[in-house]
Amino acid sequence: MSGGRELYILEDSFLSNAENFKHTLLSVNDGVYMTDRERKIIFWNSACERITGYSAVEVLGRRCSDNILNHIDINGKPLCDSSLCPLFQSMQKGVPGEKPAVVRARRRDGSRVVVEVSVAPLFGENGEVIGGVEVFRDVTEKHELAEMKSRFLSAVTHELKNPLTIMQGFIELVLSGDTGEINQLQREFLTSAMEEGDRLKKILGDLLDMAHFEATEMSFSSRPVDLSLLLGQAAVVLGPEAAKKNIEMGFNVPENIFVLGDRDRLYQAFVNLLSNAIKYTEKGFVSIFAGLLDKKALISVRDSGIGISADDRERIFDQFYRAGNDVTRKVGGTGIGLHIVKTIIERHGGDITVDSLLGKGSVFTVTLPLASPDQIFDSGGQ
Ligand code: ADP
Repeated sequence: MSGGRELYILEDSFLSNAENFKHTLLSVNDGVYMTDRERKIIFWNSACERITGYSAVEVLGRRCSDNILNHIDINGKPLCDSSLCPLFQSMQKGVPGEKPAVVRARRRDGSRVVVEVSVAPLFGENGEVIGGVEVFRDVTEKHELAEMKSRFLSAVTHELKNPLTIMQGFIELVLSGDTGEINQLQREFLTSAMEEGDRLKKILGDLLDMAHFEATEMSFSSRPVDLSLLLGQAAVVLGPEAAKKNIEMGFNVPENIFVLGDRDRLYQAFVNLLSNAIKYTEKGFVSIFAGLLDKKALISVRDSGIGISADDRERIFDQFYRAGNDVTRKVGGTGIGLHIVKTIIERHGGDITVDSLLGKGSVFTVTLPLASPDQIFDSGGQ
């Protein structure tokens, strides 16, 4: 079991000196603790003491789930002593946690600290799991800042949305003719004002979502979702946009592929991808394909549009990033959409990638976990 791991160590003699290694681990700035198979704490460094307020003497020999760290997730769901515990999962699977988890831990004085936790199993001589290691750092300040930003953005966007809705209501009233006849030019101007209002509403909605996603580990509802219905609806809603530009819309999504997730959020993600594909395509086609790959659902949204350069492809999922080409400048946007799409897909345990050729087109490929037959049956097929 140790064979491959040695490739990462330059000076093996340093590690074979157990005292050296122990001192380094004791003094690093992140909390590091180790447990045996039963999750009894066998190592507790000084950063653990500083962050949690528990001294090593108090915790060594006790189970970490035994009312010590008392991990709960950001929404308050208990994690200790359940199969949701990241350390437990890692030890069970015999592999390190895929990505750091953000959880709340309890301090000795009862207060809560937000920590980012990475976990890995510890292996014995024969490669068997003999325990686990958890490394954590205090991210309370960063988390509180994100929450503050989210509250601020929510307040601002709500304050902007309300008067906007009222303004649009008045415009609609005038457009309906109830306040007197209007001429063709006035109708055109008022219709443009309505459309700009809708655009602004979409931007405000995106900003609100982004702030929300950042501040919370928002849990989505998790139900089987029929991809053909979901993607079919997105294609129908965006059909007129494509038709306006004479873009052909292809749809190849077999029935009976069910993914597990939040229907509304997944719909939001695919509408965004499809709407981008239409926005950044001058002529040709936009197509949606779905199928199965390695026990996952694979969905691709392909277009024959302007394409995305290799440099831009590295950054288009970042917040506010927009490619620096004329078409992008002309069509307008905020650079938030793809960031939201990626967040939604990843929070469903999925993945999104992009491939593209400048001037030829782009393909965004999403994978999502499938719903099991039992889950589909329990939900009555939808
Ligand atoms: P927005 O479209 O509001 O600018 P997004 O986050 O949705 O923001 O997209 C980020 C950037 O990625 C866009 O500004 C655009 O430059 C590029 N992009 C996204 N989708 C496509 C596409 N299908 N074809 C070409 N460029 C795209």
